[in-house]
Amino acid sequence: MRAVDLIIKKRDKLPLTAEELEFLIRSYTDGVIPDYQMAAWAMAVRLNGMDPQEITDLTLSMAHSGDMLNLKDIGSLVVDKHSTGGVGDKTTLTVAPIVAACGLPVGKMSGRGLGFSGGTIDKLESIPGFHADLSTAEFLDQLKQYGIVISGQSADLAPADGKLYALRDVTGTVDSIPLIASSIMSKKIASGADAIVLDVKTGRGAFMKTLAQAEALADVMVSIGRLSKRRVIAVLSPMDQPLGFAVGNALEVKEAVEMLRGRGPEDYRYHCLHLAAYMLLLGNKVTTVDEGIVLAEKAIRNGSGMAKFRELIQAQGGDVRVVDDLESLPKAGQVFQIEAEQTGWVSAVDAKEIGESSVILGAGRVKKGDPIDPAVGIMVKAKIGDKVEKGQVVFEVHVNNEARYHEAMVKIKKALIISQRPVEVPPYFLGVVGLDK
Ligand code: URA
Repeated sequence: MRAVDLIIKKRDKLPLTAEELEFLIRSYTDGVIPDYQMAAWAMAVRLNGMDPQEITDLTLSMAHSGDMLNLKDIGSLVVDKHSTGGVGDKTTLTVAPIVAACGLPVGKMSGRGLGFSGGTIDKLESIPGFHADLSTAEFLDQLKQYGIVISGQSADLAPADGKLYALRDVTGTVDSIPLIASSIMSKKIASGADAIVLDVKTGRGAFMKTLAQAEALADVMVSIGRLSKRRVIAVLSPMDQPLGFAVGNALEVKEAVEMLRGRGPEDYRYHCLHLAAYMLLLGNKVTTVDEGIVLAEKAIRNGSGMAKFRELIQAQGGDVRVVDDLESLPKAGQVFQIEAEQTGWVSAVDAKEIGESSVILGAGRVKKGDPIDPAVGIMVKAKIGDKVEKGQVVFEVHVNNEARYHEAMVKIKKALIISQRPVEVPPYFLGVVGLDK
């Protein structure tokens, strides 16, 4: 078999067989197929799609490209969550400790920033000393000991996705249902969780721009999960504007800690409580979503969620003092303020423009392997539906390089649209796929 023939086949809209996909993924993982051929193949998939059988076969090849964790001796169901990616989405930082504090182990493999969307690992690594490059054995040990682990893409688990994910980030091949579904589900299957809550985002700042696309992605992932005998549901949530106020790695850690202290933006709080509730439901800790919300709220109120977050940081080498002294997180050299140019109601805070602006500031990567600046980012001070006055500060931009600020500022200003008529606060939740099956 030759890689070029498989690229041509996909270019010509023909389906690939399980053997062909297995060959492609194995050879790419082993370094036999170079990045440029894999990038051409990924672009052909992005343009021409894949049928359900191909998506399942691709996912299984990627899941089997490394170790497959067996979590049976953890002694309890293990639950996982995964977001399809968004702007300001620091949900895992809050939800994983809350759920673990409720007695349900959370074993999670997370990604780095991808395109304009942030990544949990980049956020956690803004905590001095925190490391996410755990081996399979370390992942299991920590899960057993603390009931919580958040690891980066380990070299041992779904290594094909690790390579492909970084390649897609810089080749314009991120927003593809087959590639997103196989990327997410291969990691989930390889990392062994029994129950998985998928958070499928839709809107301007999501890879899935419409609710119909998000539903299609959710359906594909839920069925792949079921085929692999996992309990999987997908929550559909909006990503037209950033989640919460903070966008940028250390800024988001700060907001996550505030949330664990019982403070923080309403949309982020609502989202976290619901995600946690669905995880608790799938993990048999509660029998209804409402009960799950009550349990999650209790973990915030009694400080057990925060205590779990501290354990997580400590277990992975991070400096736990940042939790008590948020000022010790990396801080940008300058903070610029952007004011509303007119009085009215906010009708849009375009999450994609904000996400791209944060990449310009240095919070994300332009090309594979670029270093990121943990301190920079944007605080969104006005959200859709808010009334603002001319001259009111609507964004706070945390900057370490003034030239980059001037470039980002144009986009940030473009993100905000002010209407002369009142605007309704958009829904925080758009539905759930797979709960009834
Ligand atoms: N998250 C992933 O893990 N993979 C994708 O492709 C997109 C979001």
